[in-house]
Amino acid sequence: MSVIVVGSMAFDDIETPFGKSNKIIGGAGTYIAYAATHFVRPVKQVSVVGYDFPTEELDELCTRGVNIEAVEVIPDRKSFFWAGKYHLDMNTRDTLVTELNVLGDFKPVIPESYQGAEFLMLGNLAPAVQLSVINQLQVRPKLIALDTMNFWMDVALPELEEVIRKIDVLLVNDSEARQLTAEYSLVKAAKKILTMGPKFLIIKKGEHGALLFHANKVFMAPALPLDEVFDPTGAGDTFAGGFIGHLAKTGDISFENMKTAIIMGSALASFCVEKFGTTRLKEITKEDISERVQQFKELTNYQIEI
Ligand code: AMP
Repeated sequence: MSVIVVGSMAFDDIETPFGKSNKIIGGAGTYIAYAATHFVRPVKQVSVVGYDFPTEELDELCTRGVNIEAVEVIPDRKSFFWAGKYHLDMNTRDTLVTELNVLGDFKPVIPESYQGAEFLMLGNLAPAVQLSVINQLQVRPKLIALDTMNFWMDVALPELEEVIRKIDVLLVNDSEARQLTAEYSLVKAAKKILTMGPKFLIIKKGEHGALLFHANKVFMAPALPLDEVFDPTGAGDTFAGGFIGHLAKTGDISFENMKTAIIMGSALASFCVEKFGTTRLKEITKEDISERVQQFKELTNYQIEI
């Protein structure tokens, strides 16, 4: 089944306790696309870049099964730029710079060849852009998932609430779930969010895994305990790419299959953090992914008699 991915494509400047990346390729849409292609091809990408975005990277995306027909290249402006600095625990970071550049007034145009896609993954960018993509689709996809961040809650909350009303799955991290609902308890926050539009909610908790809420059900996926987390940037987007990729590959949007999808997302994210940027997502093979999913199974498999 086919999937449309919407999200920023960017330059990132990342500082962690282990080093500095300088300007590297990042962006939510980039991470989602690279992750999703491990499950489903083509990935129909919607984004915008400037003159400075390397053609080699666009070629690389194409080679890996990403359709870039709806990635607009603006010849006289710069790509989105983001800089962040991680604290020692790597679970928290400060955004140092957000330069929207081409993303600031991006008006996506969905080509005819993208119509009819069964899955839509709205990655992190302006809620108005996410909404515009939904509105341009002639047939509503079978499943619409949306990822966002605190930045958009701060600057575009009404638009964000509007798009959230139209989706099936919301992905946020724990602090974003709290910010969106003004509830500290994640269970209370989840209950509120499930009345705002989405039928499914995923709360990402970094190195503590992810929670999936649906009606009165909840499932928890662990994160793999890793020797070293080198750079967590893009882990959330990679998770989203693995999640939607698995759903699109199987075509099954049941709660049971979403449990598997969040394990797939967690497995992909565990690779992402091992090196700067998208490097690991380009290196890994099907066998690497299977091996890691097996590790996830062993991590939580126990016998208990009640
Ligand atoms: P994550 O670590 O999963 O939250 O995603 C980090 C990625 O999101 C980076 O590659 C950034 O380029 C991108 N990003 C950061 N801020 C924004 C924003 N306001 N809108 C869109 N993308 C962003």
